[in-house]
Amino acid sequence: MRDPASFSPPSGAVLERFARIVGAQHVLTDAEAMAPYLREWRDRYVGRAAAVLRPGSEEEVAALLKVAHEADVAIVPQGGNTGLVGGQIPYESGAEVVLSLSRLNRVLDIDLDNDTMTLQAGVILADAQTAAKEASRLFPLSLAAEGSCQIGGNLATNAGGLNVIAYGTARAQCLALRAVLADGSVVGSLNGLRKDNTGYDLRDVLIGSEGTLGVITAAVMRLFPAVTDRAVAFAGMESPAEAVSLLTFFRERLQCGVLTAFELMSHLGLSFAVKHLGLRAPLAAPTPWYVLVELSGHGAAGAVMAEMERILGDAFEAGLIEDAALAQNEGQAEAFWRLREGMSEAQKYEGGSIKNDIAVPVSRIAEFIETANARVQALVPGARPVPFGHLGDGNLHYNISQPPDMSREAFLSRWDAVVEAVNEVVLALGGSISAEHGIGRMKRQWLARIKSPAEIALMRQLKQAFDPKGILNPGKLLP
Ligand SMILES: Cc1cc2nc3c(=O)[nH]c(=O)nc-3n(C[C@H](O)[C@H](O)[C@H](O)COP(=O)(O)OP(=O)(O)OC[C@H]3O[C@@H](n4cnc5c(N)ncnc54)[C@H](O)[C@@H]3O)c2cc1C
Repeated sequence: MRDPASFSPPSGAVLERFARIVGAQHVLTDAEAMAPYLREWRDRYVGRAAAVLRPGSEEEVAALLKVAHEADVAIVPQGGNTGLVGGQIPYESGAEVVLSLSRLNRVLDIDLDNDTMTLQAGVILADAQTAAKEASRLFPLSLAAEGSCQIGGNLATNAGGLNVIAYGTARAQCLALRAVLADGSVVGSLNGLRKDNTGYDLRDVLIGSEGTLGVITAAVMRLFPAVTDRAVAFAGMESPAEAVSLLTFFRERLQCGVLTAFELMSHLGLSFAVKHLGLRAPLAAPTPWYVLVELSGHGAAGAVMAEMERILGDAFEAGLIEDAALAQNEGQAEAFWRLREGMSEAQKYEGGSIKNDIAVPVSRIAEFIETANARVQALVPGARPVPFGHLGDGNLHYNISQPPDMSREAFLSRWDAVVEAVNEVVLALGGSISAEHGIGRMKRQWLARIKSPAEIALMRQLKQAFDPKGILNPGKLLP
């Protein structure tokens, strides 16, 4: 694949052509103005760019890419800049140009009969949720970065988040999209069809392509009935195996409502959140593991609460859980969720943390935790794994806090070895080394190891077909 270092910065004449398309005020070249686009939020990746382009329409995106293609300029598409694997940040050469979609931020249509919403790519996820709510519908895609991330970025990374167990990832929620290819040609439609078997589905190729095949400009997303009834509970158990059994228990017994969250936490993670974030543990006595369960309903208030009580009562009788607390009001429900959402933040106060975003089949979660913990201990005695996350999707944030008596630097210097060991366990269990965040720049070297030579060859042929000069997001995703 083309090396990002093989590009030269655009000439002054090319920058002028860009300015004629979007207006000079939307071609940023000043270091201060470009700075927010060049730094990832964790500061793990900090790049340089020749310019940041801010088009205001699909036509402008197409015209910019046509010029970039002719002039051999590398383009890095960027949405809300919340990606965690460096895909939206240019390399350090300063030759690349960032293409920000932020100005394509209009909700184009809400079609209640079709149960769909048509959004430009730069619509912020939280704004899309609000637009759906105002139309008495639910747009269920939800993640902690929703105040900044954009629909185009969500689709380019096939974002997951909190409600995947009920509504699927961004891919499952997208019916149609439009995108501009590297040479400026526009593909796709905004037809919003649920059935359309007319050949290869380019939508599904573009979703999850991390800005390497095309620039997504708009999409039709599915809507769902608004949630009118909700129950949130916090249950404690002895082991991850029991947490998995509880999930099956819920699935087998649920008669009304939808299981919209099933999130695992360890007691260590909970104790960090209590200690550092001033939050309260919901259960009187600690248990080694906890699950946050959420049921949502679309009918009269109270029905899913009764359902929650019934199923948790049966689970207690069956010896699956030690104890459970049911949120009695919205405030308590939010307090339970703050514990789950504070898992990552609380770990910051415990020193260095090595992070893994992995998935295994739900039935192998317990085996994964046990085996990965043992491998990590063997490598770094005293390291403290704090797994948490979307148990219902088989997706864990397998974070490891440093041993208390080790220096942060010494622990973080073991990052590659620890990730290697964890990934070996993941792969042995038939899992994925990137469940949510994608490949970007961070996990590129792993792709060649996890895909077969035939798959890598096919991916490279796809890239060649979509972007023959390799100008779109060079040095990302493909090894
Ligand atoms: C606090 C926090 C919590 C998070 N939680 C989750 C989570 O629960 N689940 C999850 O899946 N992710 C999560 N993320 C990661 C991130 O929010 C998602 O990957 C999100 O979908 C990225 O959207 P964005 O608009 O910020 O994209 P960016 O970060 O700007 O870009 C991400 C990638 O998409 C490409 N891209 C962006 N826009 C376009 C476009 N219009 N066309 C083509 N390519 C494009 C970029 O080139 C880059 O490769 C989290 C991040 C943070 C900071």
